[in-house]
Order: sequence, then C-alpha cells, then structure tokens
Amino acid sequence: MKYWLVAEAYEKIEQTSKRLEMTDYLVDLLKKTPKSAIEKVVYLTQGKLYPDFTGIEIGIAEKLAVKAVAKATGRSEAEIEEDLKNTGDLGETAQKFLEKKRQVTFFPQPLTVERVYETLDKIARASGPGSMDQKINLLAGLLADAKPKEAKYIIRTVTGSLRLGIADMTVLDALAIAYGGGKDSRVILERAYNVSSDLGKVAKNVVEAGIEGLKNFKVSLGEPIRPMAAERLSSPEEILEKLGGRCIAEYKYDGERIQIHKNGGDVILFSRRLENITNQYPDVVSLVRENVVPDKVIMEAECVAVNLETGELRPFQELMHRRRKHGIREAATEYPIALFLFDVLYVDGEDLTVQPYPVRHDVLKKIITRNDRVQIAKYIITDDPKELELFFEEAIENGCEGLVCKSLSESSVYQAGSRGWLWIKYKRDYKSEMTDTVDLVVVGAFHGRGKRAGTYGALLLSAYDAKNDVFPTVCKCGSGFTDEDLEKIPQMMEPYKIPHRHPRVQSKLEADVWFEPKIVLETIGAEITLSPVHTCAMNIIREESGLAIRFPRFTGRYRTDKSAEDATTVEEIIEMYKSQLKTTQT
Ligand code: AMP
Repeated sequence: MKYWLVAEAYEKIEQTSKRLEMTDYLVDLLKKTPKSAIEKVVYLTQGKLYPDFTGIEIGIAEKLAVKAVAKATGRSEAEIEEDLKNTGDLGETAQKFLEKKRQVTFFPQPLTVERVYETLDKIARASGPGSMDQKINLLAGLLADAKPKEAKYIIRTVTGSLRLGIADMTVLDALAIAYGGGKDSRVILERAYNVSSDLGKVAKNVVEAGIEGLKNFKVSLGEPIRPMAAERLSSPEEILEKLGGRCIAEYKYDGERIQIHKNGGDVILFSRRLENITNQYPDVVSLVRENVVPDKVIMEAECVAVNLETGELRPFQELMHRRRKHGIREAATEYPIALFLFDVLYVDGEDLTVQPYPVRHDVLKKIITRNDRVQIAKYIITDDPKELELFFEEAIENGCEGLVCKSLSESSVYQAGSRGWLWIKYKRDYKSEMTDTVDLVVVGAFHGRGKRAGTYGALLLSAYDAKNDVFPTVCKCGSGFTDEDLEKIPQMMEPYKIPHRHPRVQSKLEADVWFEPKIVLETIGAEITLSPVHTCAMNIIREESGLAIRFPRFTGRYRTDKSAEDATTVEEIIEMYKSQLKTTQT
C-alpha cells in the first residue's frame, strides 16, 4: 500500500473539525487498505506503532529529527533550525525544504506503508551505543525517498506531534462502517476493544473474520482489559435502592489499581491507565507467584501501602516511592504493600468477564492463598442502610476512602471500559484535616509481627471522659515509633500490665495486653472521623458511632508531665471534629 494514500487522508482529516467528516475520511482510508496492512494503518493514524500497553514508542527528540531533515535535504542544521523558528513545526519545515530539493532531483520509488512502518519500528527499537546515529540514518533514508507531504507526516509521527485528533471511538466507528456493515455493529467492536485494549488487533479481526467472527472475541492473557469504573451516590439508601435492595459492599482501598496477568511464572502488572508497571512492584510479582494458585489468571487488586508490623493501611502517598527507575527494591522494603483483590476476569482459558459478580467473587475466594499481604477486599453483604453506613465509617477509619458497593444481580457482568451503575462508590463529600496534637492514654497493646515480633506492634489509645471518669478508646496507633521507642515502651508499660481490661477503660477492641491508664503519649493524625469501633463520644455525633483518629502517629513526645486524667478529653475531641468540619466542608 502506498504511504501517499495515508498522507492524503491525514491532510483531509486535519482540515476538518467535524467528527462525522473525520470518520468519513477514515472510512475511505480503511476501505482502501489491504487486509495485510490494516493493523499498521490503524496504529499509524493514532501516531503509534503498537497498542499503548506495549510501552513501545517511536519518540525521537526534535534535535535528532532536525539532523535527519538536514541530512535528507542537503541543508545545514542551522538552516533547518532557523526555519523551524518561523514554522514552529518541523514537519512543515521538512516539507518546505523537500519541495525545493525535488525541483532539481527525480522522484524515487514511492514509499509504501510497510516500509514506513518497518523503518519507524527499527527507529523505535534502536538502543545502546551508536543508536542515535542509527536513528538519524534510518529517518534520513526514509525522508530522502518521501514526497514533501509524506515527509511532513513522517516527521510529525516520529516526534509525537501527529495529533490528528482521531479518538479510539472514532476508529471503532470507522471500522464499523467500513467492515461491520454499519454503525450499529460498533458495540461488538467496542467490546473486543474493551477486552484487548488493542485497536489494531480488533481491526485485523473484523477484516479477517467479519463482525460475526468478532462476536467470539475473547480476553487474552497479556492484553490488558480496559477497567470497569464506578458511578457515585451519596447515601446508603440511594445506593441500596439503585442496586435492587441488596448489595455487596467492599472497602474502597486508597492505593493503586493493578490488573494482574499471571501466566505460569510470568507476571505482568498494568496500571489503571493500562501502562505496564511491572517494574515498580517486584514485591507484587512475587506475591502473585506465591499465592495465586491457577497457572493462568487475570485479576484486579488495589495495591496499598501497609505497615507490616501492625497490619495498618498507610496513605496513598507512600506508593509514590515506586515511581522511579532505580532503588525500587529498597523502596519496596521501606514502604511495603499488600494486595486487596477485588475481581477475577480470566482463569485457565475461561473468560469470566461475562459471569455475574457473585460467580467471580466465589472464584476469587478459591484461587488465592490468603495471608497478611494477599487478601480479598474486606466486604459485607447487606440490605440494611444502617449497616452500610457503619461499614463505611469503619472503612474510613481504617484508612480507606469509603466503599464500593456492587450489584449481585444476574446481569452484574464485568463491564470493561465503562462506568455504570453495577458499581457505586460511596465516598465522603468533604475532606478534613487534623492540625493539633492530642495527648492520649495508653490502655492496651497489640503484639507486633515481622520486625516488631517480640515487642508491641501498636498501642490502643484513649481520651479522657471527665464526666464519667472513664477512658474510651480513640485509635490504634502503630506509627511514629523509633526502634528505641519500641524497645523502651514494653519496659515502661511493664509495671502497669493487668490481666484484663481496666474497669475504667471503654473498648470494643480486644487488646492482646491491657494496662492501667497511666502513661500519656502525644499523638497526631490525619483527621478525626466517625467510627463504629472506637468508643470515644459514642452516640454523641451519631447513633452507634464514636470518634476516631485516622492515620494516628506518635510524635515522639512522652507526656510524663501529665497524668491520665490530664489527657485530651472527649469534649475536646468532639470540638476538634466539629471545627474541622466547619472549616473544610465543601
Ligand atoms: P474512583 O477512582 O474514585 O472512580 O474509584 C474507583 C477506584 O477505586 C478503582 O479504580 C480502584 O482503584 C479503587 N478501588 C478500591 N477498592 C476497590 C474495590 N473493592 N472494588 C473496586 N475498586 C476499588
């Protein structure tokens, strides 16, 4: 196929801003494209060589492209640079200089799509020493044989500035019209695209097998499935009504969504945007190898930073340490993660995206070995708005963003690539921030794990309820302790150890070790939230809920100057809760 046809289509597409016309031009081009070149043409119209998830980019720096243009046109780099200042588009500059050159030379062999594609592919893959020169030579060779207009688009393609504005959906429309018998067939094409994220592959399939053939298009291991997304509502009542009166509510973890593809020992991880992020999470790769039983699986999880010693979830920001090229292993040790799985889309050849969620959830429960670091997203099945609300508060207090409530109906398939009412998120409509520290009493402790085995992993902390002279709990705190603190605290607490909960301590949690309320620690958190677990201010703000400190952290200050009765009071915590709402509610 002549590249000229592609360049001409680009020119027409570029000159219209109407989507319908754009689609028509694309339809013309796709109809003129032979079967063997259809994938290439589809990728090229989007300025690519492969689907995004492969991570292969043509990307040549403009400076290099200038050298290639100079070489192909027989001009100096300075001349090219000078003209570029005026045009602001190296494509146009290349076109101009080639037009001048063509007046004195013969036209060479016409460029084919195949040759353009293969040369661009070589450019994309060239690496290592000497690759710069290689790239320049390859590009210059192509330009030397190109017509001026072709050169313009080749340059724009290699420098990543093609920008024809052809969206994925426009390509699907054009394919439906050109090869699917009309626009109505787009849903079938769209589904194929949603489960493969590969427009070229979809195009090839519809051209070869027709729209009927495409109905059998299956999920494939290694090709990311476009993620399903959730709608949003703001009350448990509305959510339950929308989901037919009953739903499965899961913690909405605040981490990074990961689509896991396991093929024997090979594990690939895709981000929500379907980039390959396997390198950022060597620990996830090992966890998957060790704890996912079947050979071939596609599943989805939220990857969350955790404190392995206490099991506490950590804020999303800790995952940012993975966004780097070097030192990933160190980051993985310093900021460990856990996986909370929430869907399974494929197991050993079977496409599960067409199965209702209860079926997928059951499969999910069976195929993994659960442990501290590999878990199923915590869930309840309920038809009770009150229960949903309390589960929501618990999720927030435990470091989650809220809940994702999911349909249990027969039709609750995995809707790849779309946002629908089968999943409804329940988040808060405000954000709050805790700016002051509080002084809390140590009333209990939990045994540590991992590096904290043998010492305490977390402490149970209480505020002081002066009216009733009791100590209701307000958080479980496992952060902010230095190694020195961890050594010192058990010794410090030893004299106050008692075999059961102190009668003045109000707690719904069962600590591993209980103390007499004596020692006061200064603590700060991210915010104060409602909590069904902690007893501080129980039933005061809301029935069956107390107040808790989210993401609590020891500041390092032992308030030896304070007795337990001098600790921050319940009233003060209520005031802090109310004032943070006043200042931050939107
Ligand atoms: P949002 O990004 O606010 O639209 O919320 C959807 C996101 O919540 C998903 O993309 C996931 O990353 C995340 N998430 C956390 N926990 C779950 C869960 N249990 N089920 C589905 N999505 C979840």
